[in-house]
Amino acid sequence: MANVPGARGTARPATTNPHPATGNVPLVLSGANVVMPTGTVEGGRLVVEGTRIAGTAPENAQVIDVKAHWLIPGFIDIHNHGGGGASFTSGTVDEVLKGIHTHRLHGTTTLVASTVTGDMDFLAQRAGLLSELAEQGEIAGIHFEGPFISPCRKGAHSEELLRDPDPAEVRKLIDAARGKAKMVTLATELPGGIDSVRLLAEHGVIAAIGHTDATYEQTVEAIEAGATVATHLFNAMPTLGHRAPGPIAALLEDERVTVELINDGTHLHPASLQLAFHHAGADRVAFITDAMDAAGFGDGRYMLGPLEVEVADGVARLVEGGSIAGSTLTLDRAFKRAVTLDGLSVEDAVAALCANPARLLGMDDTVGSLEPGKDADLVLLDSDFDLKGVMRRGEWVVDPQLG
Ligand SMILES: [Zn+2]
Repeated sequence: MANVPGARGTARPATTNPHPATGNVPLVLSGANVVMPTGTVEGGRLVVEGTRIAGTAPENAQVIDVKAHWLIPGFIDIHNHGGGGASFTSGTVDEVLKGIHTHRLHGTTTLVASTVTGDMDFLAQRAGLLSELAEQGEIAGIHFEGPFISPCRKGAHSEELLRDPDPAEVRKLIDAARGKAKMVTLATELPGGIDSVRLLAEHGVIAAIGHTDATYEQTVEAIEAGATVATHLFNAMPTLGHRAPGPIAALLEDERVTVELINDGTHLHPASLQLAFHHAGADRVAFITDAMDAAGFGDGRYMLGPLEVEVADGVARLVEGGSIAGSTLTLDRAFKRAVTLDGLSVEDAVAALCANPARLLGMDDTVGSLEPGKDADLVLLDSDFDLKGVMRRGEWVVDPQLG
């Protein structure tokens, strides 16, 4: 971690967008089940003009037949630490871009880059690097997961680097992110936790409750102070007890809170996912990957911040202690699981992967739904819900090679 190069100002590599643009020829994607905010239009059509979705097709538009496919908005991941062998916490600019691109190949067109616990100077340096990528439009912003988390629920974070959430230090981090800090995960029950939640809320940064040992009552207090997200609900927090309901009950019951869920089949039992979905409702769930470097890459040894991780059969665990250390999930798999194994409707899965995170990030005027005027960010799936195409801002990232 000490020798991470400060690669600020490095030119954007050609690998960011190796696929041909649509050449500015307007496109009509015709015949698919198009999932709109108002419901699914069978045999519908979607017009893409330039970087945006358009209302009507100009005469010179190229028509592409996508019958028997689903057209849904591009996925939005608000909690993601890396992929393609690259870490957002320690990679160079080129490596971070490779990680972003790996997730784009799996349909994630909007991504908030997450860091793991590090020392404050290091995190401020990462904030500088990542904020430049946010300014270039490569990521939607930065999520700091730690260092203000509970040693009792540290998961795959270095215990010696954890600290209480001092509002002055929280302020330093969000200043280092130059307006691009989107979210901070903290254990709000620690000294300074509630004041830090207030500070984040005042600065328009999402205060997310996570890696926490809070009681039900302490969690209610944090929500009252302005916390609006549950960081990977169920994971790294006390379980739901009948006399001590803990944070889970408080986070599920409050309509102001969006709950993150890692739908990889490892982090959650399907019944727990169902419980959260039924209790919070489809509008308050955000599926995340919490992905680490191995996502879209493969098994092997990796570093998560300063900690060594072994990935076997797609499950990432700390070498020491065996805690689950992020996931190797991509959101196309999360979507397919949701509709084929969890029994969610396509519309509810789209809400959890697109519309809800867009609203949470304050980006629902440009992304998160297929509506004229919004960015042409979309995912094309076949009838088995396997990914066939990805378009970001009007350009194919994965070209479906149709028509
Ligand atoms: Zn995480």
